[in-house]
Amino acid sequence: MPVNILNLPAYAVAELHENDHDYHIKASTRQHPVACIHCGHEKLDGFGRREQMIKDLPMHGKRVGLYVDTRRFRCKSCQVTFYEPLPSVNDKRLMTNRLVSWIGHQSVKRTFTSIADEVGVTEGTVRLIFKDYVSELEKTVRFETPKWMGIDEIYLIKPRCVISNIQNNTIVELLPNRNKETVIKYLRQLPGKDQIQYVAMDMWMPYRDAVTEVLPQATIVIDKFHVVRMANDALEKVRKSLREKLTPKQRRGLMHDHFVLLKRERDLNDKEQVLLAHWTAKHPDLGVAYRLKEDFFGIYEKSSTVTEALIRYEIWSKAITPELQDAFHDLNRAWTNWRPWILNYFVHPVTNTYTESLNSLIRAMNRLGRGYSFEALRAKILFAHGSHKREYIRPKFIRRRAEVEDTGIRFSCADDGDDLIDSVVTASTEDLEIVNYGADIDLLVQLIEAGEI
Ligand SMILES: [Zn+2]
Repeated sequence: MPVNILNLPAYAVAELHENDHDYHIKASTRQHPVACIHCGHEKLDGFGRREQMIKDLPMHGKRVGLYVDTRRFRCKSCQVTFYEPLPSVNDKRLMTNRLVSWIGHQSVKRTFTSIADEVGVTEGTVRLIFKDYVSELEKTVRFETPKWMGIDEIYLIKPRCVISNIQNNTIVELLPNRNKETVIKYLRQLPGKDQIQYVAMDMWMPYRDAVTEVLPQATIVIDKFHVVRMANDALEKVRKSLREKLTPKQRRGLMHDHFVLLKRERDLNDKEQVLLAHWTAKHPDLGVAYRLKEDFFGIYEKSSTVTEALIRYEIWSKAITPELQDAFHDLNRAWTNWRPWILNYFVHPVTNTYTESLNSLIRAMNRLGRGYSFEALRAKILFAHGSHKREYIRPKFIRRRAEVEDTGIRFSCADDGDDLIDSVVTASTEDLEIVNYGADIDLLVQLIEAGEI
């Protein structure tokens, strides 16, 4: 096999020019076409030639352009003229196939500009190849529809919707926005959507409406995290408005107040406890607000039934002093508006472990996000190499028929001579059904932190 610097055996290299940045390589195909590409007739006339510039993989740190002397032919039979097909060259672009495939792989790992710069093409070209690459992946990669689904918000340039599999701690989709129509469209096309049992979400009406419409069988559960967070927000309002009323000197007495107040009571160290007691004595409202925050968490931690949660909430809301009504208004209103779905948590506490993982991922993605479009981030997250959580399921056990028994070994059962078990050929790995649950959230965080995405 002929060898050349290009490692493209179908080409003969005629000239090679190089400068600090680039290789310019003149080449031509070794084999003329033997038949008309239209009618298959074998008699062809030469009909001129042209030079085509084909981009190839960077080599030795330099960009590579191939100048291919492409011949044109005319068929003696059908009279149609055609240029010779170029082996290893992409049929959509003036690039080698290996370059297109390399750009595709790179485009989910790196910024488009860095790839464009390395290869010597425009960023727009990289974007188009990325789109083709991702749509190819979409066709081949199918994630299992979660039985317990999470629908959350993730802020990437603007708020987006992230769909997760709660039981498997994986991401299965990122939607460009949080609109009802977008979520409906996504849910409608999901295979096996009628198997979805629970949907955990934050208090966002379009999510609820979409799920109610498309997944009537699913139980909606408001994620605990989003509810208790509002108790922290209320306390923050009290703290900030108190600070506004204080003199700079008094304010210095509240050093690290934000940090201490948001801590759970059981996690406070001795020093923090003293500080808190001191502030509470000086600013009683702050003390009441802190107590309300803690007691609201207590509704979740101490109630194991809906009734208990309801009673605890009633007691809790009566403890809000008139001065603090404003600060706790949002939380009270959310509880009122979302009560049935908030209470579902006390029947189906489905949301515990993944929220924390998801929050780490959201933080990691926001660090990663700079310089990427949403589509690129989505592809990185969904198709990152090595992040998919798969399960290999053996095919159903099928009883071997007696009439096909030839080389099989027969095992006889010790205590019952009549009961014979047929041997079964071991399933090879190709027979295994692969279930792909999506991108593992913890693995994604690790990959992002290791700079591999
Ligand atoms: Zn022809």
